[in-house]
Amino acid sequence: MSQRLKIAIQKSGRLTEKSLELLERCGLEFTRSKDELFCFGQNMPVDLLLVRDDDIPEFLREGICDLGLVGDNVAEENRLKAQAKGQPYPLERVRGLGYGRCRLSIAVKRDFDYQSIEQLAGRHIATSYPYLLQDFLDRNGVRAGIAYLSGSVEIAPRLGTAEAICDLVSSGATLAANNLKEAEVIYRSEAALYQRALEDQPEKQALLQRLLVRLDAVLKVAESKYVMLHAPKAQLDAICRILPAAEAPTILPLGGKEDTVAVHTLCRETVLWEHLEQLQAAGASAILVLPVEKMLG
Ligand code: ATP
Ligand code: ZN
Repeated sequence: MSQRLKIAIQKSGRLTEKSLELLERCGLEFTRSKDELFCFGQNMPVDLLLVRDDDIPEFLREGICDLGLVGDNVAEENRLKAQAKGQPYPLERVRGLGYGRCRLSIAVKRDFDYQSIEQLAGRHIATSYPYLLQDFLDRNGVRAGIAYLSGSVEIAPRLGTAEAICDLVSSGATLAANNLKEAEVIYRSEAALYQRALEDQPEKQALLQRLLVRLDAVLKVAESKYVMLHAPKAQLDAICRILPAAEAPTILPLGGKEDTVAVHTLCRETVLWEHLEQLQAAGASAILVLPVEKMLG
């Protein structure tokens, strides 16, 4: 049996670019041509399968691939579907990846005076996520009709086929453009790494462990920036307090300047323009914000 790890990612869509970027930051190099279904790993025995995101859980179940980068929404819908059909679902969520964030929400027409979930009883809700929706309705003791649509769910209320929809939302702009408003968030999602059981394949298991060390090193600094600046000694404490989630800073003397020091530190949270403005107002100068690629240990 091939001992090359196969990772499925979305072929073309919202997750594609970030997924490729993440794997490349983990040091994987592929013969890259996005329109191909398969990318061969050049420097490690790890290959890519480029597929529709909806197919990834099934590919993992069937052992066509070993790992998959897919939205929790898709994985959870498939888990609930397998559960409803009494089928096994031997997938494990290994890591959340921090991108592809969205929520699965029920939305109603803007002029619907929405107060509570009970108002949806007996109505029709159009969705591509019938199992997640049914699960939510069951947990809330509401009986409603579910109309399955594979896409363009947001136009269903206008066509009169449903009074509400249940679809993915990130900014809410699509809802607004279709005269809809968000009524209930039923599930929050991000892209995540899923694996199939690999216990019987120690070589692949070992390869996965190696990849996870790298992945953690990359994820650990996902929001982090390395900040360097010059600070008047008198303002040092005030300046260090402004830096968001800063590690213990390195303070260095500056040649020829008695009253100024250089401050170097890792900020664990997003460094905003507002932070830089505050730093400058507090007396900092020569402020540099540098990207951090990876951090081990
Ligand atoms: P495919 O052809 O692969 O089936 P798709 O149309 O199902 O593509 P995309 O719209 O690219 O998929 O979304 C892929 C995933 O991106 C979603 O399943 C979800 O996890 C995530 N996502 C993040 N924000 C949004 C959003 N606003 N709308 C839809 N999906 C989002
Ligand atoms: Zn899809």
